[in-house]
Amino acid sequence: MILLNDFQRQWRDTRDDAMAAFEAVGASGWYILGKRVEGFEQALAAYWRLPHSVGVASGLDAIEIGLRALGCRPGDRVLTTPLSAFATTLAIVKLGAVPVFADCDAHGLLDLDACSRLFASRTDIRLLVPVHLYGHALDPGHLAQLRDRFQLRIVEDCAQSIGAIRGGAPTGLVGQAAATSFYPTKNLGALGDGGALLTADPNIAAAARRLRDYGQSAKYKHDEMGYNSRLDELQAALLERVYLPRLDAWTARRRAVASAYLGSIRNPAVRPMGAPAGSDSCWHLFPVLVAPDRKSAFMAHLRSQGVACAEHYPVLIPDQAALHGVPHELASDCARARAIAHGEVSLPIHPYLTDDEAATVAAACNSWTG
Ligand SMILES: *Cc1c(COP(=O)(O)O)cnc(C)c1O
Repeated sequence: MILLNDFQRQWRDTRDDAMAAFEAVGASGWYILGKRVEGFEQALAAYWRLPHSVGVASGLDAIEIGLRALGCRPGDRVLTTPLSAFATTLAIVKLGAVPVFADCDAHGLLDLDACSRLFASRTDIRLLVPVHLYGHALDPGHLAQLRDRFQLRIVEDCAQSIGAIRGGAPTGLVGQAAATSFYPTKNLGALGDGGALLTADPNIAAAARRLRDYGQSAKYKHDEMGYNSRLDELQAALLERVYLPRLDAWTARRRAVASAYLGSIRNPAVRPMGAPAGSDSCWHLFPVLVAPDRKSAFMAHLRSQGVACAEHYPVLIPDQAALHGVPHELASDCARARAIAHGEVSLPIHPYLTDDEAATVAAACNSWTG
C-alpha cells in the first residue's frame, strides 16, 4: 500500500539523529521549558522570519492562545472558514467567541472578497482566523489590505502552510500572530503533539508565554487564567535537531511529487485542485475533485490499486453535530465549500514518496473510469 504518510521510512532516515536528541534531553535532567524549547523557538523564528516564537502544546492551543493574546473575548465574532480541521473553529468556541463562517474560493481557501464585503457591512466582526489550507498560501497583499482597511486582528492558521511562499514571503506575516502545529502528519511534525505561536509583537509573545504556563507572569504570580500548554523539551529537541534541518528538503520533495501529479494526472473525472496562482505551495496535501456521487467508488478504486487516500474535509465545520446549540453564524450558504467537501479526495504526498510510487498513484487516477 502506498501510504498517505510513511512514518516508518521517516524513522529509518532520522533515527540516529533522533536518538542523539533523546539522549541529550534525557541526560540534561531538564524536561519542561528549558534550553531546548528556547533553542527551537529561536530556530523556528529565524526560519519563519519573525522575531518571536512561543512553543505550546498543540496547534489548537496556538490558535486559542493567539486569539486571547489579541484580546478576543467571549461573545466576540470571529470570521473563519467552514472548510478546515475542526480545531480552527474549536479554538474560537473554547474562548466563548462566536465563529462566523464565510464561503471558500475555488481552491478551498477562504474567499477574501466575500470577507471584505462582510467586514464592510458588519462592523461587529473585527477578528479573523484565515487558514492556509492544503499548504496553499492566501494572498498576503489582499489579507493586508483587509487588515488595514477594517483594522482587523488576525491569527493566521499556518498549521498546514509551514514552508509555503507567496509574494516572496512565508505565510503568517500579515496577521498579528501566526499559529502552527507539529502534529506528526504536518509538514514539520514532531513525535507527538506540539505547536507554536509566532509574532512580530513582543507584547503578544509575552502574553503567550504567560498563557501557556498557567498565566504566570513570574513564579507564583498569576494575574490571569492561563493553560498548561507547554511544548516539552523532548519534542523541541527533535524538532530543532532532527526535523527542522530537513524541512526545506522535505518541502522540495513534496513540490516535486505535486508537479509529477499535475503533469501526469490526465483524467477529466479526476481534477487536481492545484494551488492559487502566485502561491508556491508547501503541498501539505494533494487534493483532487471527483463527482460527489462517485467519491466513495473512486476511493475504493484507489485502494484496490494499492493507493491510500483520505478526505479534507468531508463535513463542513458548521455541519458538525458539536456545533448544534453552540452560537455560530453562517455568513453565506457556504455552497462552494460544501461542493469541495463532497467531492474532494486527498492523494498520498509526503517526503519519502518515491517517483515510482507517484507514477502508480497517477496511473490509478488515470485508470478511473468515473
Ligand atoms: C492540524 C491542524 C490544526 C490543529 O493542530 P493540532 O496540533 O492537531 O491541535 C489546526 N488547524 C489546521 C488547519 C490543522 O491542519
